[in-house]
Amino acid sequence: MPGVVRTVQRAMGKAIRDFQMIEEGDRVLVCVSGGADSLALLRLLQEYREHQRTDFFLVAGYVDLGFSPGAAEKVEALLRDSGAPFRIVHTAIAEMAFDPRATKNPCFICSHHRRHKIYTLAHAERCTKIAIGHHKDDIVETLLLNILYSRKIEAMRMRQEVFRGSMHVIRPLGYIEESLVKRYARNVGLEAVPRMCRMDGNSRRDKIKRLIHELQADEKNANIRSNIFRALYNVNVEFEYKEK
Ligand code: SF4
Repeated sequence: MPGVVRTVQRAMGKAIRDFQMIEEGDRVLVCVSGGADSLALLRLLQEYREHQRTDFFLVAGYVDLGFSPGAAEKVEALLRDSGAPFRIVHTAIAEMAFDPRATKNPCFICSHHRRHKIYTLAHAERCTKIAIGHHKDDIVETLLLNILYSRKIEAMRMRQEVFRGSMHVIRPLGYIEESLVKRYARNVGLEAVPRMCRMDGNSRRDKIKRLIHELQADEKNANIRSNIFRALYNVNVEFEYKEK
């Protein structure tokens, strides 16, 4: 039985190959939030570049949302230790997300502005790929979030074209469950920088996470999370409904 490090490396390598996520000469922006998932992604892509023959450039990017005082300095120290070139963008996104005059949900505002900053950074760094640390749980939760709150069936894609194909968003951890990514991070000694956001534990995503967890606890013989993920590969268009 391979250990957790090898298992995660293999699963990521398979995802990269299955979706041709990284090609020769690519410039890859790795989005780092300071959390275990994104730090694991950076480490894994550095290892991948070392072991594969593909020649690509990696740059880490951190968007400081302004939630936690001192967090940016801690993330900067981790990025320095990683040996990867990095860029840090300071923002006031936290303030905008929780502005009492805002008409949208804080997570919507936060994600919208963060995405914009990431795209701007990727353009400035002439990146062809934007790698995000979303794992299988994120993909499953997003699908349910879209169904339950946005009335649409839409999922995060493993490789997603943006700006008419001049850039792609890639999710190399998409085959891997969150618990395994966290175990990998612990195994290789990565220490996440805690984020202090008022929505933590109360976001819609947290509710979905709890729901899946409860279903799973009740259904010992079914892998609920994987079943939802596999459903994305098993769409029966014959049952498509048309709005009347
Ligand atoms: S939980 Fe906090 S950091 Fe995450 S998207 Fe929502 S507002 Fe932003």
